[in-house]
Amino acid sequence: KKHKFICIYFYKLNIIINMLEILIATNNEHKLKEFKDIFKDYEVKLYSLNDLNLNINVDENGKTFYENALIKCNALKKYTSMPIIADDSGIIIDGLGDNFPGIHSHRYMEEKGGQAKCLDYLTKNYLGHKAKFHCSIVLVNLLSEPVEFVGEVSGTISKIVKNAPFGYDPIFKLDSINKTFSELTSKEKDKMSHRYLASIKLLDFLKTNHYI
Ligand code: IMP
Repeated sequence: KKHKFICIYFYKLNIIINMLEILIATNNEHKLKEFKDIFKDYEVKLYSLNDLNLNINVDENGKTFYENALIKCNALKKYTSMPIIADDSGIIIDGLGDNFPGIHSHRYMEEKGGQAKCLDYLTKNYLGHKAKFHCSIVLVNLLSEPVEFVGEVSGTISKIVKNAPFGYDPIFKLDSINKTFSELTSKEKDKMSHRYLASIKLLDFLKTNHYI
Protein backbone atom coordinates (compact mmCIF):
# COMPACT_ATOMS: atom_id res chain seq x y z
CA LYS A 1 0.00 0.00 0.00
CA LYS A 2 2.84 2.30 1.00
CA HIS A 3 4.61 1.50 -2.26
CA LYS A 4 1.49 2.38 -4.25
CA PHE A 5 1.18 5.69 -2.40
CA ILE A 6 4.81 6.59 -3.16
CA CYS A 7 4.34 5.74 -6.84
CA ILE A 8 1.27 7.97 -7.09
CA TYR A 9 3.13 10.74 -5.27
CA PHE A 10 6.04 10.65 -7.72
CA TYR A 11 3.68 10.36 -10.69
CA LYS A 12 1.87 13.56 -9.61
CA LEU A 13 5.14 15.33 -8.81
CA ASN A 14 6.44 14.43 -12.24
CA ILE A 15 3.31 15.91 -13.86
CA ILE A 16 3.69 19.15 -11.90
CA ILE A 17 7.40 19.46 -12.75
CA ASN A 18 6.86 18.68 -16.42
CA MET A 19 3.65 20.65 -16.84
CA LEU A 20 3.78 22.79 -19.94
CA GLU A 21 3.27 26.48 -19.19
CA ILE A 22 1.99 28.81 -21.92
CA LEU A 23 1.50 32.55 -21.96
CA ILE A 24 -1.48 33.68 -24.03
CA ALA A 25 -0.92 37.15 -25.44
CA THR A 26 -4.36 38.45 -24.56
CA ASN A 27 -6.52 39.77 -21.74
CA ASN A 28 -9.70 39.18 -23.74
CA GLU A 29 -11.85 37.12 -21.35
CA HIS A 30 -13.65 35.37 -24.20
CA LYS A 31 -10.45 34.22 -25.89
CA LEU A 32 -9.00 33.08 -22.56
CA LYS A 33 -12.10 31.05 -21.77
CA GLU A 34 -12.02 29.47 -25.22
CA PHE A 35 -8.38 28.43 -24.80
CA LYS A 36 -8.97 27.21 -21.23
CA ASP A 37 -11.89 25.05 -22.39
CA ILE A 38 -9.79 23.46 -25.11
CA PHE A 39 -6.87 22.71 -22.80
CA LYS A 40 -8.88 21.72 -19.74
CA ASP A 41 -8.20 17.98 -20.03
CA TYR A 42 -4.45 18.41 -20.49
CA GLU A 43 -1.54 19.13 -18.20
CA VAL A 44 -1.04 22.70 -19.36
CA LYS A 45 -0.91 25.81 -17.22
CA LEU A 46 -2.17 28.86 -19.11
CA TYR A 47 -1.25 32.40 -18.13
CA SER A 48 -2.84 35.61 -19.36
CA LEU A 49 -1.04 38.95 -19.58
CA ASN A 50 -2.83 39.98 -16.37
CA ASP A 51 -1.52 36.91 -14.55
CA LEU A 52 2.03 38.11 -15.23
CA ASN A 53 1.22 41.80 -14.70
CA LEU A 54 2.15 42.57 -18.28
CA ASN A 55 0.59 45.54 -19.95
CA ILE A 56 1.88 45.89 -23.46
CA ASN A 57 0.60 47.88 -26.39
CA VAL A 58 1.87 46.73 -29.75
CA ASP A 59 1.54 48.35 -33.11
CA GLU A 60 -0.03 45.59 -35.22
CA ASN A 61 1.46 46.83 -38.46
CA GLY A 62 1.93 43.47 -40.17
CA LYS A 63 0.65 42.74 -43.66
CA THR A 64 -0.91 39.39 -42.79
CA PHE A 65 -2.71 37.72 -39.89
CA TYR A 66 0.43 35.65 -39.32
CA GLU A 67 2.67 38.73 -39.13
CA ASN A 68 0.35 40.47 -36.67
CA ALA A 69 0.13 37.43 -34.39
CA LEU A 70 3.92 37.10 -34.56
CA ILE A 71 4.38 40.79 -33.66
CA LYS A 72 2.26 40.23 -30.52
CA CYS A 73 4.32 37.16 -29.58
CA ASN A 74 7.67 38.82 -30.20
CA ALA A 75 6.73 41.83 -28.07
CA LEU A 76 6.50 39.47 -25.10
CA LYS A 77 9.65 37.46 -25.64
CA LYS A 78 11.79 39.70 -23.48
CA TYR A 79 9.51 39.10 -20.47
CA THR A 80 9.40 35.31 -20.43
CA SER A 81 11.09 32.16 -21.61
CA MET A 82 7.84 30.17 -21.56
CA PRO A 83 6.08 29.36 -24.84
CA ILE A 84 3.82 32.20 -26.01
CA ILE A 85 0.75 32.07 -28.23
CA ALA A 86 -1.03 34.98 -29.90
CA ASP A 87 -3.88 35.05 -32.37
CA ASP A 88 -5.11 37.42 -35.01
CA SER A 89 -8.40 37.10 -36.84
CA GLY A 90 -10.87 38.82 -39.11
CA ILE A 91 -13.43 38.50 -41.86
CA ILE A 92 -12.77 38.48 -45.60
CA ILE A 93 -15.69 39.39 -47.87
CA ASP A 94 -15.74 38.63 -51.61
CA GLY A 95 -16.09 41.80 -53.63
CA LEU A 96 -14.66 44.14 -51.03
CA GLY A 97 -11.13 43.85 -52.39
CA ASP A 98 -8.19 41.55 -51.96
CA ASN A 99 -8.43 39.87 -48.54
CA PHE A 100 -10.49 42.78 -47.26
CA PRO A 101 -11.24 43.87 -44.58
CA GLY A 102 -9.12 40.95 -43.24
CA ILE A 103 -6.49 42.26 -40.87
CA HIS A 104 -8.31 45.61 -40.92
CA SER A 105 -11.64 44.12 -39.72
CA HIS A 106 -11.68 46.04 -36.44
CA ARG A 107 -10.67 49.37 -37.97
CA TYR A 108 -13.03 48.93 -40.94
CA MET A 109 -16.01 48.71 -38.60
CA GLU A 110 -14.94 51.87 -36.79
CA GLU A 111 -14.42 53.71 -40.08
CA LYS A 112 -17.94 52.76 -41.19
CA GLY A 113 -19.33 54.42 -38.05
CA GLY A 114 -19.54 51.51 -35.63
CA GLN A 115 -21.11 48.05 -35.66
CA ALA A 116 -24.74 48.97 -36.50
CA LYS A 117 -23.84 51.26 -39.41
CA CYS A 118 -21.18 48.94 -40.75
CA LEU A 119 -23.43 45.87 -40.74
CA ASP A 120 -26.23 47.87 -42.31
CA TYR A 121 -23.88 48.99 -45.09
CA LEU A 122 -22.61 45.47 -45.70
CA THR A 123 -26.06 43.85 -45.83
CA LYS A 124 -27.27 46.51 -48.26
CA ASN A 125 -24.30 46.21 -50.58
CA TYR A 126 -22.91 42.71 -50.15
CA LEU A 127 -25.92 40.52 -49.33
CA GLY A 128 -25.32 36.97 -50.62
CA HIS A 129 -21.57 37.51 -51.10
CA LYS A 130 -19.26 34.73 -50.03
CA ALA A 131 -17.19 35.46 -46.92
CA LYS A 132 -14.83 33.69 -44.57
CA PHE A 133 -13.47 34.13 -41.08
CA HIS A 134 -9.77 33.49 -40.68
CA CYS A 135 -7.73 32.94 -37.52
CA SER A 136 -3.97 32.57 -37.24
CA ILE A 137 -2.47 31.38 -33.98
CA VAL A 138 1.29 31.70 -33.68
CA LEU A 139 3.40 29.82 -31.14
CA VAL A 140 6.93 30.98 -30.25
CA ASN A 141 9.56 29.98 -27.68
CA LEU A 142 9.00 26.27 -28.11
CA LEU A 143 10.80 25.40 -31.34
CA SER A 144 13.58 27.48 -32.87
CA GLU A 145 11.10 28.87 -35.43
CA PRO A 146 7.57 30.22 -34.87
CA VAL A 147 4.76 27.79 -35.72
CA GLU A 148 1.44 28.89 -37.22
CA PHE A 149 -1.97 27.22 -36.88
CA VAL A 150 -4.75 28.38 -39.17
CA GLY A 151 -8.51 28.01 -38.85
CA GLU A 152 -11.06 29.16 -41.44
CA VAL A 153 -14.84 28.92 -41.75
CA SER A 154 -16.76 29.81 -44.87
CA GLY A 155 -20.09 31.53 -45.04
CA THR A 156 -22.28 34.07 -46.77
CA ILE A 157 -23.24 37.66 -45.92
CA SER A 158 -26.83 37.52 -44.69
CA LYS A 159 -29.49 39.84 -43.33
CA ILE A 160 -29.41 40.33 -39.58
CA VAL A 161 -31.58 37.58 -38.08
CA LYS A 162 -30.45 38.12 -34.51
CA ASN A 163 -28.22 40.83 -33.16
CA ALA A 164 -25.05 40.15 -31.20
CA PRO A 165 -22.50 42.53 -29.74
CA PHE A 166 -19.39 41.02 -31.29
CA GLY A 167 -18.14 42.26 -34.65
CA TYR A 168 -19.56 40.63 -37.76
CA ASP A 169 -21.42 37.78 -36.00
CA PRO A 170 -24.95 38.99 -36.96
CA ILE A 171 -24.33 38.95 -40.74
CA PHE A 172 -22.05 35.93 -41.12
CA LYS A 173 -24.10 32.87 -42.06
CA LEU A 174 -22.12 29.65 -41.78
CA ASP A 175 -22.48 27.55 -44.93
CA SER A 176 -22.28 24.28 -42.98
CA ILE A 177 -25.37 24.93 -40.81
CA ASN A 178 -27.08 27.83 -42.60
CA LYS A 179 -27.19 29.94 -39.42
CA THR A 180 -25.46 33.18 -38.48
CA PHE A 181 -22.82 33.14 -35.76
CA SER A 182 -25.16 35.33 -33.71
CA GLU A 183 -27.85 32.64 -33.65
CA LEU A 184 -25.51 30.20 -31.93
CA THR A 185 -24.98 30.01 -28.19
CA SER A 186 -21.42 30.91 -27.22
CA LYS A 187 -20.88 27.21 -26.42
CA GLU A 188 -21.99 26.22 -29.93
CA LYS A 189 -19.92 28.93 -31.59
CA ASP A 190 -16.85 27.96 -29.57
CA LYS A 191 -17.04 24.48 -31.07
CA MET A 192 -17.10 25.61 -34.71
CA SER A 193 -15.41 29.01 -34.92
CA HIS A 194 -12.25 29.82 -36.88
CA ARG A 195 -10.47 30.32 -33.53
CA TYR A 196 -11.61 26.88 -32.37
CA LEU A 197 -10.36 25.20 -35.56
CA ALA A 198 -6.95 26.89 -35.22
CA SER A 199 -6.78 26.03 -31.49
CA ILE A 200 -7.52 22.37 -32.18
CA LYS A 201 -4.57 22.28 -34.59
CA LEU A 202 -2.34 23.78 -31.90
CA LEU A 203 -3.56 21.17 -29.42
CA ASP A 204 -2.91 18.35 -31.92
CA PHE A 205 0.60 19.68 -32.54
CA LEU A 206 1.39 19.71 -28.81
CA LYS A 207 -0.05 16.20 -28.36
CA THR A 208 1.70 14.71 -31.40
CA ASN A 209 5.04 16.11 -30.30
CA HIS A 210 4.51 14.92 -26.70
CA TYR A 211 4.60 18.34 -25.09
CA ILE A 212 1.34 17.46 -23.34
P1 IMP B 1 -8.95 40.19 -33.24
O1 IMP B 1 -8.42 38.87 -33.63
O2 IMP B 1 -9.57 40.14 -31.86
O3 IMP B 1 -7.96 41.30 -33.42
O4 IMP B 1 -10.20 40.46 -34.22
C1 IMP B 1 -10.23 41.53 -35.13
C2 IMP B 1 -11.63 41.87 -35.52
O5 IMP B 1 -12.16 40.88 -36.40
C3 IMP B 1 -12.63 41.96 -34.36
O6 IMP B 1 -12.61 43.22 -33.76
C4 IMP B 1 -13.95 41.68 -35.09
O7 IMP B 1 -14.45 42.83 -35.70
C5 IMP B 1 -13.53 40.70 -36.16
N1 IMP B 1 -13.74 39.32 -35.69
C6 IMP B 1 -12.79 38.39 -35.43
N2 IMP B 1 -13.34 37.24 -35.02
C7 IMP B 1 -14.68 37.45 -35.02
C8 IMP B 1 -15.79 36.62 -34.69
O8 IMP B 1 -15.68 35.45 -34.28
N3 IMP B 1 -17.02 37.19 -34.83
C9 IMP B 1 -17.20 38.46 -35.25
N4 IMP B 1 -16.21 39.27 -35.58
C10 IMP B 1 -14.94 38.77 -35.45
